[in-house]
Amino acid sequence: MMKDDKLCQPKPKGSQKPRKCPKCGKKYYGYPALSRKDNKTEICSKCGVLEALQAFRDNI
Ligand SMILES: [Zn+2]
Repeated sequence: MMKDDKLCQPKPKGSQKPRKCPKCGKKYYGYPALSRKDNKTEICSKCGVLEALQAFRDNI
């Protein structure tokens, strides 16, 4: 009797659920960044950097 190996595939390591960034609408993995606007909205790290740069410019 032959067995099918398709059910024996290893699960990918570190499989995290993707988060969706409300700012740019893209999915991202890993740690979220907090929006500086309300300090509770979780955005992707790219948008976090962009907001930080904008805040930096506004302070000049
Ligand atoms: Zn984003």
